[in-house]
Order: sequence, then structure tokens, then C-alpha cells
Amino acid sequence: MSDDSAQNLISCRVCGVIMVKLARDTCSKCFQKEEELFQRVKSYLRSNPGSSVEEVAKAMDCSEEQVKYFVRTGRLERVGVKVAHPCQICQKVIMDGMICPECKKSLKDQVSTLRSQTGQPDPDDESGGKKK
Ligand SMILES: [Zn+2]
Ligand SMILES: [Zn+2]
Repeated sequence: MSDDSAQNLISCRVCGVIMVKLARDTCSKCFQKEEELFQRVKSYLRSNPGSSVEEVAKAMDCSEEQVKYFVRTGRLERVGVKVAHPCQICQKVIMDGMICPECKKSLKDQVSTLRSQTGQPDPDDESGGKKK
């Protein structure tokens, strides 16, 4: 029997306490707190749709990071409430997703350019140039 229990230990994302790795990355105490906060954020946004991350954090008396976390994980979007948050790339204020439509488009263009550049094999790859 190999002892791999140490590999299953992580520190809680919020308070840093060492715990056994579960489906989530927070300890049960922080998870509970986060759930409560999430419910509060949700109902706040229901009555104040389109509030900014900063406004929500202020109203909840929590860190902006915490609100951003809910945005990043898509939880708020899933329950149908909107937060105004900056695009990850150009910082423009958006309501959906993590990046604005323009950045999404330019990212897509970049990816397809990259694909067409690397997609085809290089025919000049040291063929026939053997030296001894
Ligand atoms: Zn914790
Ligand atoms: Zn953008």
C-alpha cells in the first residue's frame, strides 16, 4: 500500500488551512461563508442589476476578489444576474463572459492565424541535407 495521502492535501483557497482535497478548493467553514455571501450577492444583484464588482463588494462588505471569483466561475451568470466587470483584456466594462465581444473576435482571429501557420508541415525540414 503506497502512502499517497499527502498528495490529497491542499490549502483552503480562502483561509489557507490545510485540508483534504475534495471537489471544492475551500474548507467547509469557508465554503459555508462563501455560499452565504453568494446568496447575498445574488439577491443584491436581483434588485440592483448591472452593479459593478466594486459596488457589490462595498455593499456586501467583502473583497472585490471574492465578487470577481463568482464572476469568473460563471456562477452569477448561471443564476441569471449581471455584474458589470472589466474585460480581462481591454478592461472595457462588460456584463457577460470574461472578455468583451471585440476581444473575443480578435482572439479568435489570432487562433485561426496561428492554426494556418502551424497547421501545415514544413517541407524544408532537413530533407536531403545529410552530411557526414
Ligand atoms: Zn477555509
Ligand atoms: Zn475587451
